[in-house]
Amino acid sequence: MRKLAAGNWKMNGNAAALAELTALTEAHPAPACDMLICPPATLIAQAAWATKGTRLAIGGQDCHPKASGAHTGDISAAMLKDACASYVILGHSERRADHGETDELVLAKALAAVEAGLVPVVCLGETEAQRDAGQTLAVIGEQLAGSVPAGSTAATLVIAYEPVWAIGTGRTPTLDQIAEVHSFLRVSLMKQIGGEAAGVRLLYGGSVKPSNAAEIFAVGHVDGALVGGASLKAADFGAIVAAL
Ligand code: PEP
Repeated sequence: MRKLAAGNWKMNGNAAALAELTALTEAHPAPACDMLICPPATLIAQAAWATKGTRLAIGGQDCHPKASGAHTGDISAAMLKDACASYVILGHSERRADHGETDELVLAKALAAVEAGLVPVVCLGETEAQRDAGQTLAVIGEQLAGSVPAGSTAATLVIAYEPVWAIGTGRTPTLDQIAEVHSFLRVSLMKQIGGEAAGVRLLYGGSVKPSNAAEIFAVGHVDGALVGGASLKAADFGAIVAAL
C-alpha cells in the first residue's frame, strides 16, 4: 500500500503561503508516499492550480452533506471537487468540538464526499478524560461504526486516528498505545467492510513532527500521518514525507 502524508493547514495560510507548496513539490518531485495538503477553502483552487502536474494532492477540511442549496457559508463536496480537490478531511475533533459534529453527520458528509468523487479522511480519537477512564477503544469503535460508510473500499476511505489530547499539544501517545489503536482499527474495519479494510490507509495524527515521524511510521498498521502545525512549512512537512 502507498502510504499517505496529509497536511491540515486548519485556519492558517494566505496566498503568499502557496509558496510553501511550490517549495514542497520542488523538493519532493517523486516522493515514496502520496502527499496531500488541505489548505483553507479560500486557497483550494489556487493551491490546485499552483501544484497542477505535481505529486501533491489538494483537499478540503470539511464539506456539507447536501450537494447544494440554502446553506449559507457552507461548501459542498461537489464544489470542492470542482475546485480540483481530491480528498476532504471529515470529523476532525476541532469540528466535532466547535460545531457539535456527530458521527451521524460525519457519515452523511462522508457519503456526500464519495458521491462527489472525493476521498474522505475520517478523523476519530479519544479525549484525555476518555483515555484516563479506560474508554479509548470503546470510543474509537463507536466513532468508526457510526461514521464510516458501508461499502467503503481502500480507494474510497482513509481513517485518521487523532487522540484529541495530542493535537497541537506536543504530546504523543506511546508507540504501544498507537499500535494498540491501529490494530484495533484494522480488525474493527475488517468486521465492518470486509477484506477491503486491509488496504485502507490508517493515519496517525497528533503532534507529528520531523523528530518523531520515523518511529511513529515504524508502528504496525500506521500507514501515514495527518499533520497539523508541521504541515505549514515545506521543510518540516518534507522531512515527514521523507520519513515515510
Ligand atoms: C491536526 O490538526 O489534525 C493535527 C494532528 O495537528 P498537530 O499536528 O498540530 O498536532
